[in-house]
Amino acid sequence: MSQVATVRGPVSTAELGPTYMHEHIFTLTADVQQNYPQEWGSEEARVADAAGRLRALAAQGIATIVDPTAVGLGRNIPRIQRVAEQVPELNIIVATGLYTYDSVPFEARADTLVEMCRRGYAGSMVLSQDASCYIDWIDPGVLPFLAQWHYLHIGDEVLPYVRGRGVTDDEITTMLVENPRRFFDDRPGL
Ligand SMILES: [Zn+2]
Repeated sequence: MSQVATVRGPVSTAELGPTYMHEHIFTLTADVQQNYPQEWGSEEARVADAAGRLRALAAQGIATIVDPTAVGLGRNIPRIQRVAEQVPELNIIVATGLYTYDSVPFEARADTLVEMCRRGYAGSMVLSQDASCYIDWIDPGVLPFLAQWHYLHIGDEVLPYVRGRGVTDDEITTMLVENPRRFFDDRPGL
């Protein structure tokens, strides 16, 4: 079994468990941070806030997240490590990647998921919600109106919705556990 590097050290791919493959902890823009540092405020408070949100996610049963904290999105691994120390029950894998802003409405995305499962593609899909604990791209006053853009969205809303439309628990386990493990496993099938 392969090991994958998390910010708290290597973890066996067999132990990743239910995994969201694309969630952000902090999404920051250098220009915004330099010009409006008061908006970020206290480093300690932001880290504690993130830890609280991630604890709630772990309590929902998610064991691992992948944060594509790419250069250009405020990549700061020591800060992620400070968060991770406060949430030892959650594996955090940091990766680089491309950000695509997804503005497709919830029902359309969830119905696509249902249809893709119906056509037999559960083995090729992973789930995540592209949420952030903190994002400086959006006015904090507006964020509450993006009611489905948070860490608990899949567990609280998407999974009940797709289960009610025929997606099976086996398919959900495939997408949340087996596909991420296979992605990080450098010897598939062993
Ligand atoms: Zn993203």
